Amino acid sequence: MIAEHLLHPTRKGLYCPPGDFYIDPVSPVERALVTHGHADHARSGHHHVWATRQTLDIMALRYGEDFCKVPHEMPLRERYAVNGVGVEFWPAGHILGSAQILVSYQGTRVLVSGDYKRRHDPTCMPFEFVPTPEPVDVFITEATFALPVFRHTDDHEQITNLLNSVSQFPDRTHLVGVYALGKAQRVIGLLRQAGYSETIYIHGALKTLCDYYVSQGVELGSLQPATLENGKKADFAGKIVLGPPSAFTDKWSRRFANPLICFASGWMQIRQRAKQRGVELPLILSDHCDWDELLDTIAQLQPREVWVTHGRDDALVHWCGLNQIRAKPLNLVGYEDQNQ
Ligand SMILES: [Zn+2]
Ligand SMILES: [Zn+2]
Repeated sequence: MIAEHLLHPTRKGLYCPPGDFYIDPVSPVERALVTHGHADHARSGHHHVWATRQTLDIMALRYGEDFCKVPHEMPLRERYAVNGVGVEFWPAGHILGSAQILVSYQGTRVLVSGDYKRRHDPTCMPFEFVPTPEPVDVFITEATFALPVFRHTDDHEQITNLLNSVSQFPDRTHLVGVYALGKAQRVIGLLRQAGYSETIYIHGALKTLCDYYVSQGVELGSLQPATLENGKKADFAGKIVLGPPSAFTDKWSRRFANPLICFASGWMQIRQRAKQRGVELPLILSDHCDWDELLDTIAQLQPREVWVTHGRDDALVHWCGLNQIRAKPLNLVGYEDQNQ
């Protein structure tokens, strides 16, 4: 079977005709395989959903228990049949519960990366290479930061910058903008790894997911709501407060002493973006691969072909061509990684 007959892009997302299922569909379908809980990949309203236990839990937390009619928990690294098509979920290292999906049928194998990253993250399982007897026919990769200018610096360096700033400006509140799922917990985890043991204050929008991470054994240390009950502004001086970036423009942020705005995102490598958002201390922390990590992964997998999903496809397709790997963009729509 040619790979295009096993998986191909449609308006609703990647579709598998022999299995009659979609991967990360962007509108409601009968059968959905979901790589991870970010809202653009995991949507509500499907009939059947196959995902890891943690992704199912995250979907239930965000959309309610009735986010789908029939949830199917997929253990990692085991082969299952969905309508006669082999599917396996393997850790993707992106956020808690995130998975790559290997689809195999009549000797053809397509590996869908979902969103993934290769570097260490204290809050989720690391990316794993799927052991296959020979290289996969197709590797479908994300391409959020697929440009040679994207080379994410060391995470610990970024956290050190934050901690240095906190000790340099003890009368200011460090307000750190974070995406609620994944980034918030990772920033807290990295701060703890760096030895920061003080209470970290969080916006109400982060609480449910932080609690869920803790319930899954991820250590986040002492967290308190960032509310002023009977206290004063000065109570937050010298503290670290995490919140969704959207909250920084409203009344919420004005309760803090002389706030110093930080934002943790892979996009912070672009100075212009940091400026536009009024970010004083950009923290380059990405939950996606940078350029080198994308290339290393492809070089190690040695797929026959690479198909590139959302993000910046042209540079990666071009690089594959130079390296004698057939490649094409899939032009899937409906995925947004602007806030990650
Ligand atoms: Zn994601
Ligand atoms: Zn994505």
